[in-house]
Amino acid sequence: MSESLKNIKGTQDILFDDNNIWQYLESNIHNFLNKYGFSQIRTPIFENTNLFSKSIGLQTDIVSKEMYSWTDQGGNNLTLKPEVTASVVRAYIQHNLGKKNPINKLYYIDTLFRRERPQKGRYRQFNQFGVEAIGSAHPEQDAEIIALAYNFYKSLNIKNLTLKINSIGSEEGRNKYKVALKKYLTPYKNKLSALSQKRLETNPLRILDTKIDFEIKIINSAPHIIDFLNKEDKEHFSKVLSLLDSLSIKYDIDHKLVRGLDYYCRTVFEIQNSKLGSQDALCGGGRYDYLVEELGGKPTPAIGFAAGIERLILSLNKDELSIFKRPNIYIINTEEKYLESSFKITESLRNNNFIVINDTLRRSLKSQMKDANRLNALYTIIIGEDEIKNNKVTIKNMDKGTQDYISFDKINSYFLKK
Ligand code: AMP
Repeated sequence: MSESLKNIKGTQDILFDDNNIWQYLESNIHNFLNKYGFSQIRTPIFENTNLFSKSIGLQTDIVSKEMYSWTDQGGNNLTLKPEVTASVVRAYIQHNLGKKNPINKLYYIDTLFRRERPQKGRYRQFNQFGVEAIGSAHPEQDAEIIALAYNFYKSLNIKNLTLKINSIGSEEGRNKYKVALKKYLTPYKNKLSALSQKRLETNPLRILDTKIDFEIKIINSAPHIIDFLNKEDKEHFSKVLSLLDSLSIKYDIDHKLVRGLDYYCRTVFEIQNSKLGSQDALCGGGRYDYLVEELGGKPTPAIGFAAGIERLILSLNKDELSIFKRPNIYIINTEEKYLESSFKITESLRNNNFIVINDTLRRSLKSQMKDANRLNALYTIIIGEDEIKNNKVTIKNMDKGTQDYISFDKINSYFLKK
């Protein structure tokens, strides 16, 4: 196949057994979030570009260099969604959800697009599930969201979890902190990378995210944002922590955690899996009390998180999961003239919820048997000349090698009894 026809770098085809894991996870996500009273929301795959530049922030990596944007035939500037919160908030405002319900607890499973450098755990098309609780300013809402994320990973038996948490307060405290951080970093300016030197002027908080060793050393002695927050912000944060304590959820306060997007305030958090290497963040989120207003709605507090599904899959111990479905029955049809009978039997078994495979390649009995073995089918049903003559089929237990000879009208009850 020519290179130009292959899938795009940073995208993946998900084949065969891997899809069992996706289906297993998706149904787990739905069940888990329904337990917390969250309802699913689905938003379009593309939006007006300015929705993202306004919410995520022009200085962020996502908006400045990673979005898949284009102008359509009508001259509209459009972008494939790089994240979901902005779309959820847009829908919240557009459909007046705040009027219908004082608190909206929403979740999504969605596909996102960012033109990043592809590597393990980082792709250009990837999937996230996430939650948004829009309406409550109280710390118990933060704690519920964080506990939900943490408990979800626990429920899947994922080990090596670290919950990192911080508060970046409200604008006033954050601005004071930015001044202090800039003052602290300025004497080191010439030692900083070109990017950090630029960020020192535009948004010094982003330098705290650095992955460069010598910058990390400098940052380690930087002032902490928490010391610049007002009394209310500090009280909010300590209530969130005490609620997490009451659930025995362990956390690390990480003074360097500020998260990349512009819209966060107060609580920010990330859950990491140390086994994942450099792309170790399973999920991240925080409070965004000003975003609804910024996008044209009434001032409404909110908090949420987004969680990468590909990284979740990399974290699963697949041997522990019973997600690989064995076909219950493989129907072996030996002649074209028995197709009608074979079709009827297949359909009636499927109507009883059995997983039934039938051959459509008109292969020999031997190669159909081989295929049944390859698929690890529990039983085969053979429909041949003898069987049709006597209105019976041969049922073979593939694990034990035993056989039964059963009349057509008893096939379903035979399997239902098993
Ligand atoms: P973010 O929306 O950047 O806060 O990311 C939230 C979560 O989505 C991360 O913790 C990752 O698990 C996942 N994620 C973000 N970007 C990517 C990507 N390019 N490829 C795969 N997963 C990603």
